[in-house]
Amino acid sequence: MSAKEKIKPNKTLALWLFLFLIALSVSSYLGKTGQELKEKKVAYSEIIKAIESGQVSSVTFKEKVIMAQERVSSADSENSKPFILISPLPQIENPNLLNMIQSRGIEIKAKNEENETWTRVLISFLPWIFIIGFFYFSSRSLNKKMGGMGRPPFMGEDKKFELEKSTNVTFDDVAGSQNAKTDLHEIVDFLKTPEHFNEMGAQLPRGVLMVGPPGTGKTLMAKAVAGEAGVPFFSLSGSEFIELYVGMGASRVRKLFKEAKEKAPSIIFIDEIDSIGRSRGTGLGGGHDEREQTLNQILAEMDGFSTGESVVVLAATNRPDVLDSALTRPGRFDRQVVMDLPMVKSRAAILEIHAKKIPVDKNVNLEDIAKSTPGFSGAELKNLVNEAALLAAREKQKTVNAHHFSEARDKVLMGNPRDEHLSQEQKRVVAVHESGHAVVAILSPHSNPVTKITIIPRGRALGFTEQTPKEDQVNHSKSYLLTQIAILLGGRMAERLLIGDITTGAQDDLKRATKIARNMVANFGMSDSFGLTSYDLDNTHPFLGKEISRPNDFSEETAKKIDDEVHSILKERETFVMNLLEENKSKLEELSDKLFNSETLDKEEIAKIFN
Ligand code: ATP
Repeated sequence: MSAKEKIKPNKTLALWLFLFLIALSVSSYLGKTGQELKEKKVAYSEIIKAIESGQVSSVTFKEKVIMAQERVSSADSENSKPFILISPLPQIENPNLLNMIQSRGIEIKAKNEENETWTRVLISFLPWIFIIGFFYFSSRSLNKKMGGMGRPPFMGEDKKFELEKSTNVTFDDVAGSQNAKTDLHEIVDFLKTPEHFNEMGAQLPRGVLMVGPPGTGKTLMAKAVAGEAGVPFFSLSGSEFIELYVGMGASRVRKLFKEAKEKAPSIIFIDEIDSIGRSRGTGLGGGHDEREQTLNQILAEMDGFSTGESVVVLAATNRPDVLDSALTRPGRFDRQVVMDLPMVKSRAAILEIHAKKIPVDKNVNLEDIAKSTPGFSGAELKNLVNEAALLAAREKQKTVNAHHFSEARDKVLMGNPRDEHLSQEQKRVVAVHESGHAVVAILSPHSNPVTKITIIPRGRALGFTEQTPKEDQVNHSKSYLLTQIAILLGGRMAERLLIGDITTGAQDDLKRATKIARNMVANFGMSDSFGLTSYDLDNTHPFLGKEISRPNDFSEETAKKIDDEVHSILKERETFVMNLLEENKSKLEELSDKLFNSETLDKEEIAKIFN
């Protein structure tokens, strides 16, 4: 059984109590109205008249009121209900009244007001129960919709953190990330034998910032540290701290640290720390009081650690650049552990860890899959393995084979295949377009090998030309970038050459080509005429759009020079690609015909055309 426990108050009892009160009120209300006859206020003399004329079946005395129930005559009993005639009793008592009633054999009842008190109380409370219930449940559902934010203060306080007494995760469960493991080993040792470090008077970092893109295993690594050290793991997400009500976040921080200290040695893990630890004074609009109070409380708690308290705070973010400098000061999160996107070896190791949980066919080569998934995060690789297993299960296969993995990879990369079928004419255009990309890629010395071409629409793409790098590239040459621009323009140029018209399908290609050219000129200093200048063009502001966040740090004149240079690069590439395709028109035609007929070509089929 997992040692995971969610700490929250018992709300079920309140819900049952509320439902019980409603049921009680409704039933007593219905019970009353169901039997009740219509009441009619009349003069006392009219009641006496009715008694005398034998129209009354029973008389009830209640406090200072007389109520006479009309007798039902058999003729109209089906159509009309009798009334209860009500009148106040006169101040002067009628001495003959009782005799008169008794002599006519009319039933006499006396009612005490108290009998109905409960029913009345419940009925008068019914609307209040509804109103309070409505506010309670709507505030709860609002709370949920807002991702745990907001809780009316009168409802008391909720501790929104999770405690895992033992995570059962070790460093072996985290593939790759060797540097991070080495860095974190020291923390594990400290948590295992804090007294040893304390005796030495050594000051260990109390806060470690785990930095890396989403899905790179930061949470997993934090759990592994707790698992290796065998200490409890307190976790929560930064965004969960932020409450609609100022002060709740700070009080949660106090509770969290208090509990962690009680269970020390322990680890506190704060995911998405950037949502509270963002530099103060950024973002649009006001209302940052809550965030700042929460942040200040975290800082105060971390400053308040005494030497004997072995609590380590790990925090994860994929935006270290936006963090408030107060967070990264010595004594706080002064250590950074980087969790980067995995390189090919680590990808294979991650695939292996997750593939262990499914029956993998012998023909599957995880290293090949690792090679064909550059840029995938650990979470995406885990997802790929799961998608492959789902596909195999849907096909009722006993094992997960290479085809399942390849399909799963395309799905994770580009989305599900689309159902709709293209017309023959549109299919032809897509086949020509994709062949254009492929021919330029195949014939360019600086490009990655083309491993697959398909015109089966997936996600938002109508077709896809897959290139698999021989190795992970961390540094790109100018020749490589110029080749990339050429490959991107290849689709549009092939349409022009073979179809004689052009389509909107190239829009994304053109955007990407322009972006590369712009980066080459303004960021990478790769344009001879523009020179060795870098303007950090792509560094958009984290919360505001680039346009409104900051003015360009160059003049109008420079902006024009950049534009001119970008145009000249793209123009040169256009001519280059057109010449290349014209020279290889027959290959382009052959490839697009094959692609049109087969819809997908793998690397062997492509190789047959290009020897
Ligand atoms: P986020 O920044 O989105 O919170 P994260 O960096 O914390 O993401 P995790 O939540 O730890 O990433 O990763 C998601 C899942 O991906 C993990 O539960 C794990 O199964 C898998 N995963 C990620 N990296 C690795 C790895 N290096 N080895 C094994 N599994 C991994």
